[in-house]
Amino acid sequence: MPKLDINKAGWEQSEFPILCETCLGDNAFVRMSKQEYGRSCGTCARPFTVFRWNPGTGMRYKTTVICQTCAKIKNVCQTCLLDLEYGLPTQVRDTALGVENEAPTSEINREYYAQNLEGKLEGNKSLMDTTRASSAGKEMLKQLARTDPYYKRNRPHLCSFYAKGQCSRGSECPYRHELPVDNELSKQNIQDRYHGRNDPVARKILSNHAATMGLQPPEDQSITSLFLTSLPANATEEAVRTRVVKSLPALDPALIKSIVHVAKSRCAFVNFKDRQSAELAAQAWANGLDMDGETVNVKWGRSKGSVAKSKPATAAATVIAA
Ligand SMILES: [Zn+2]
Ligand SMILES: [Zn+2]
Ligand SMILES: [Zn+2]
Repeated sequence: MPKLDINKAGWEQSEFPILCETCLGDNAFVRMSKQEYGRSCGTCARPFTVFRWNPGTGMRYKTTVICQTCAKIKNVCQTCLLDLEYGLPTQVRDTALGVENEAPTSEINREYYAQNLEGKLEGNKSLMDTTRASSAGKEMLKQLARTDPYYKRNRPHLCSFYAKGQCSRGSECPYRHELPVDNELSKQNIQDRYHGRNDPVARKILSNHAATMGLQPPEDQSITSLFLTSLPANATEEAVRTRVVKSLPALDPALIKSIVHVAKSRCAFVNFKDRQSAELAAQAWANGLDMDGETVNVKWGRSKGSVAKSKPATAAATVIAA
């Protein structure tokens, strides 16, 4: 069957967009303009019903940028792509939940991906199942969640002429007269934000949170190990490995160099091949790592030098120095 026919059958005609409170705005009588198949979805590329509205006095017009199927699959707002329950970027949510991000790369794959998952959606229920999350993951989401509406996000965009010192419209100008902050946070794209990868905003939230929880990456860049303590008494090296791999779906397991379990002291070293992987794990485990219903503590490993000086004979020191 030609691909287009299936697509047409799946085209949506919705009555109301799936939106977070912030994007909807504080106006109880919001008027929506609706354009059927108005544009192609920013993630799956299939045509969808585009809505446009003004979220409040002095705010900019907002529009939906992804289709309802894509929004439901990830439980995100059709406009800002933030998680509907926690108000967080998907990368932050998925890291905390230990959820795999399946990210089809080519446009055709993206269409099929959405189409296949569409069949699994029931009503308005999302495919995101946060109930399976570990308690450490849930705690992390609770701490990071932004549940109150944040209407400042609906303000007009910055005036590009003002930034160049060339806007002649003065107070009549509909855009904001403030200088842009050019940092990596302004360089996001829809695909990455939706699929939860390479999202600079998410990275910043995750690294700030890890630091708050005492997992600030050590200055010594040669440290690529994390130290787990209070492991369950019956834990084995294999069980630790399985748990570690499962909790880091975004990390290629080949980047875990070794895991050394010291059963007697109920601790383990997780040695990564590079610093980036260790930092990713530290962020994912900021609130600890659940194992058999117990929360395992996580700390950064220490510098080779400092360990060698203190206790060269213990199993732990040997591992770090190796
Ligand atoms: Zn879509
Ligand atoms: Zn939104
Ligand atoms: Zn202006």
